[in-house]
Amino acid sequence: MINRTRLLQKIEELGQIGQDPAGGLTRTTFTPPELEARNWLIQQLETINVDVHIDPAANIWGRTEGTRKGAPSIVFGSHIDTVPNGGKYDGALGVLIALEILTSLRERGVKTMHPLELISFSGEEPNPFRLSTFGSRALTGKLKKEQIQSVTDSSGNVLTERLEAAGGSYEQFNETQRNPLDFAHYLEVHIEQGKRLLNQGIPVGVVRGITGIYRERITVQGQANHAGTTMMGSDRQDALTAASQLVLKLEQITTESPIAELVATVGELHVYPNAANIVPGEVSFTMEIRGETEEQIASVRTQMETEFASVERQRDVVVTRDVILDQPGVPMDEMVMKTMETVSTKLGHKTLILGSMAGHDAAHMAGVTSSGMLFVPSLEGKSHCPEEESRMDDIEIVANVLYETILTLDSKGNDE
Ligand SMILES: [Zn+2]
Repeated sequence: MINRTRLLQKIEELGQIGQDPAGGLTRTTFTPPELEARNWLIQQLETINVDVHIDPAANIWGRTEGTRKGAPSIVFGSHIDTVPNGGKYDGALGVLIALEILTSLRERGVKTMHPLELISFSGEEPNPFRLSTFGSRALTGKLKKEQIQSVTDSSGNVLTERLEAAGGSYEQFNETQRNPLDFAHYLEVHIEQGKRLLNQGIPVGVVRGITGIYRERITVQGQANHAGTTMMGSDRQDALTAASQLVLKLEQITTESPIAELVATVGELHVYPNAANIVPGEVSFTMEIRGETEEQIASVRTQMETEFASVERQRDVVVTRDVILDQPGVPMDEMVMKTMETVSTKLGHKTLILGSMAGHDAAHMAGVTSSGMLFVPSLEGKSHCPEEESRMDDIEIVANVLYETILTLDSKGNDE
């Protein structure tokens, strides 16, 4: 079991690094506050005497050897970078729980058959270099040297220079990728960032899969005209009222769907020419659909296609569409999920199986090894803001579920 007091103390310590005068924490990847947090973590790992290693993507690893020769590793962790004015739990909690578990196991002299590896991934959050999940993509071979060459942010900072300042290496970047046979499992604790656990009063979330994200940019072409002299009805080809019909239809389809974890959003909309006395001639907007499976997302798309055709007909406008993102959902490993659930029940806790509506490093890790995620309830469902918070009682429970899950998976050893 873990030491609650020590874990709380580490949450507070890391929560001091990168405090933003505007509120919350700003530890954007590879910036000075984030480097300070990295140094803090490295020091913590050195204190407990694990082997510390920084890979070419500047991911931080802390490893203890297993007793069985050549056994693959059980890897667990998350990330310590934040969004601007973020909170102290998103990502950091997963790393600090991993640190506490390694500390506790060493303190008790517990030996595992498999090597255990803590990982703190570089650049999980969206960042000025426009490369989120930087470290996990590099580790799984999805991000290569060529793609990071000559990348700069809007202030002219060079990514490869920042990477090297964090202990990474541009020259060796492709060697970040590791053989999937090195890994037995990847496990991650993260805050839920929603209200499902809180609303049901359940402390432990076992993630079934990470949501797929589909985005289109839609342009509605009408006819700009005088707002006074153009009569209502068929004289008008108002692009904004046509777009509004589409926005509301998208909401209706997903609200009426029996699948709760199927959501859609129009988060960006531009009106042209955007003047009070002109009937809008053109509107462009984004349509984002999130769902666990391709079929769920496709069902919304198909229903919207019918609506596009009918809006074109009824309102004499032309709708054009461009797919800008099509990232499929990623299921978590059934056996790992089952183990987490069983462990949680054995420890006397209620468990909710739920989908992750946000992306995580685990989505990439699941492509190379059997992976699982645990969620901790988020108070008010808030995240990516200074008010982000989770209760220590819930944190302790989930940390112990991960602790026991690691030992259970270690003793199974049926991974070769
Ligand atoms: Zn996160």
